[in-house]
Amino acid sequence: MPIYSHSQLSMYKECPLKYKLRYRDRIKRDIEGVEGFLGTMVHETLKKCYDDVRLTKVNSLPDLLTYYNKIWRENWHDSIVITRKELTQEHYRALGEKLIETYYKRYSPFGSDITIGTEMGLNFSLDDENKYRMTGYIDRLSRTEDDVYEIHDYKTSAYLLSQEQADNDRQLALYQIGVQKKWPDIKSIRLIWHYLAFDTELVSYRTPEAISNLVQDTKSLINEIESAQDFPPRESGLCAWCEYPDLCPLRRHFVKVETLPVNEYLNEPGVALVNKYVALRDEEARIKDEMGKVREAMLDYARREEVEVIKGNDCKARVRFDEKLKFPGKNDAERQELESTIKEANKWAEVSQLDTTSLTRIVENSLWSKDLVDKVMEYGSLEVTNSIHISKLKNEEK
Ligand code: SF4
Repeated sequence: MPIYSHSQLSMYKECPLKYKLRYRDRIKRDIEGVEGFLGTMVHETLKKCYDDVRLTKVNSLPDLLTYYNKIWRENWHDSIVITRKELTQEHYRALGEKLIETYYKRYSPFGSDITIGTEMGLNFSLDDENKYRMTGYIDRLSRTEDDVYEIHDYKTSAYLLSQEQADNDRQLALYQIGVQKKWPDIKSIRLIWHYLAFDTELVSYRTPEAISNLVQDTKSLINEIESAQDFPPRESGLCAWCEYPDLCPLRRHFVKVETLPVNEYLNEPGVALVNKYVALRDEEARIKDEMGKVREAMLDYARREEVEVIKGNDCKARVRFDEKLKFPGKNDAERQELESTIKEANKWAEVSQLDTTSLTRIVENSLWSKDLVDKVMEYGSLEVTNSIHISKLKNEEK
């Protein structure tokens, strides 16, 4: 079984197709999002900060910013993608400076604890048989005066976790398992997220029970990934930062047409078909609406004139007002009573029939035993269906 990391597991949850392309097919892409680059540069700077403190050197803020700007310049490359077109490299570089300054002002002179490691690699197993192996990097591991070990994680994103999300977060809790395996005598571990953009620290602790549940959940997730045959794309806000749009059925057409000149774009067969389909659909809706109004007018006319047939040029319309028997529907309150009445009279078999919609849902979600599902499936078959769903383009898709 391969070694898993938290980011691999998260990517599978986020989008199974992206996970497959990155980790199963190992398709490498040179492009890097500017947000990721910014995060790496800030992490590197804070690593230097604490590495130097371990060597008794406390950098001044200008020193750290000089280092940050130096590595920014040295590592910037042409394949870095800025998705938000209204922002430039300079906006992001300045943001990184601001994040470092915020952190520096809050924690300098960095002497409240002992740093045990920065960017510290961890390799550990979730089980005694060494089957479920994990790897990861802790931004900083430290020990406080009262012997509490702290797992620090720097976040440069503009999204702040809630306390509940932090208490359920997998990443740092997995690192806790790795730290406890490495140093079994450790009594107390604190998980700390530093949200630099918000000048906020989130702190969480894990009980032995929470850790045990996490181990079980993570093993189940790894089993699911190992046995997965199907890796469907899962669209989300993160698609804008995906490096595989050309290999994704949800984005490939966007990539194909995005660089076409306007006249070629409008004549591209896919674009032309969607435009035609949407125009027809709108026309259909208008016609349906108009037909509804004319139908109402015809019914009114027939009532008023007391006629059952209305003559037109080439056609005539027969108008009928019938009474139709109606019983409570599936979700109506009286339905239960009606069914009981029929069952008590031993007549249920005469009016009941197999609900194939419910049966499909049960089989698809494996809600019955495998034996029973297998027996039922002897009568089932897979049919290729199709559907077209039209929705408005989001701003970033235009
Ligand atoms: S574009 Fe979105 S849905 Fe497609 S592979 Fe990437 S993340 Fe998944």
